[in-house]
Amino acid sequence: MEATERKTCMVCGEPKDEGITIVTEFICTSCESEMVHTSAEDERYPFFVKQLKQLWVRFHI
Ligand SMILES: [Zn+2]
Repeated sequence: MEATERKTCMVCGEPKDEGITIVTEFICTSCESEMVHTSAEDERYPFFVKQLKQLWVRFHI
């Protein structure tokens, strides 16, 4: 039985139940909160920016 449809997070690539969908991309809650708490000095910041760049491009049209 499939009660909930899992979506694949665009950031971590894991199938998750909870998260947000921006335009057509899904981001899980853990990645979302992680991004919020990631500063520009963090070594993971460029990774998040890279992953999200395609979203912002579409989002700002
Ligand atoms: Zn994730």
